[in-house]
Amino acid sequence: MNPFLKSYGRQSIDEEDIQAVAEALRSDFLTTGPKVEEFEKKFSEYIGCKHAIAVANGTAALELAVQCLQLSPGSEVIVTPLTFMASANCILYNNLKPVFCDIDIKTLNINPEKTEAKITKKTKAILYVDFGGRPCEIDKLSKIAKKHNLYLIEDACHAVGGGYHGKKLGCLADLTTFSFHPVKTITTGEGGMVTTENDEFAERIRMLRNHGMLKNDKLKLRKYGKDAFYEYDMAYLGRNYRLTDMQCALGISQLKKIESFIEKRAKLVELYNKLFKGVRGISTPLANIDKENKYSWHLYYILLDKGINKNKFLNFMKSKGVGAHSFYIPIYNFSYYQERLGLGKEIKKEYPAAEEAFSRIVILPLFPSMSEEDVKYIVECAKETIKAIKEVRT
Ligand SMILES: *Cc1c(COP(=O)(O)O)cnc(C)c1O
Repeated sequence: MNPFLKSYGRQSIDEEDIQAVAEALRSDFLTTGPKVEEFEKKFSEYIGCKHAIAVANGTAALELAVQCLQLSPGSEVIVTPLTFMASANCILYNNLKPVFCDIDIKTLNINPEKTEAKITKKTKAILYVDFGGRPCEIDKLSKIAKKHNLYLIEDACHAVGGGYHGKKLGCLADLTTFSFHPVKTITTGEGGMVTTENDEFAERIRMLRNHGMLKNDKLKLRKYGKDAFYEYDMAYLGRNYRLTDMQCALGISQLKKIESFIEKRAKLVELYNKLFKGVRGISTPLANIDKENKYSWHLYYILLDKGINKNKFLNFMKSKGVGAHSFYIPIYNFSYYQERLGLGKEIKKEYPAAEEAFSRIVILPLFPSMSEEDVKYIVECAKETIKAIKEVRT
């Protein structure tokens, strides 16, 4: 059996990737060198967007995407609760208030029909996540944003290479963020990217990833003399969120293979759907997709019927060596959020779809180096598991 099936995701690294990193290590620049610019250029060409700014990870990308909007403290940002915590943490980093909006159980994405009711005078942006690589209903969200004068931030950390109505994700929202963590579509170890069409946002993010620093040649006001070549200023409270040249070299090499990675994932998903067809006790939402959008297939998941105990299911699968998993815990359940936002136990009732999704979702392994045999094995295990659970019950 494939030992890597113990995790739900895994990187695909080949000799070409290793050579690319080795070459960067032998070059003059380990960071802030030509590989960074090259990766940004190739990534923006791939997406078809004006600006791509490489940063240390997807979380940093989100933080800077929110920060560059320069919203006043206490402004509200509407966000899905069914996501990795970083999607909402980036709002808190900026002293803004996350306002959760329930999801659509069919897509696990933010429900545009419920979004408008969350808008107040303080709302400044909507941050949506393309869950598992399924694009959100971006046209509906854009309409709402336009009507209420809100920014759109797309957390496309699951959806590198995804597309919506013929366009790549990354040029549709005001700002889009990507992650290159090893479980994501392509990897740089740790790494992230922000894309935007907006020149001002792009310039600010470039400064923010480098301490908010303004170099000598960009200074408008001279404080230390015209010939002070050493002069620099700090315009914003930035960070060190730079990505290294070794990582960008890996990113360039990985980007060449992105379409084959996505195709491989799509084939595995197709097989999962085929083998799960008619299996009782579960449903397979990923068998029903809108054909006009391109999925990047970050995750494969099933939903257990309400009578099937999720913990039992996961533990059975684990005992068979399959890294079935369950996420995301809706963010308003975390103690930090409950304390900071003063949420009570009743909060769950406001998000029935997110609660239902988390109570039923099982994520199954999906990564390009998996074989058809692996998928068959996992589906067989899932069937046995359902049978075993039902037998225990009766
Ligand atoms: C992975 C991920 C992030 C964070 O990316 P990192 O590179 O791990 O910091 C943010 N949002 C979502 C939805 C993610 O899946």
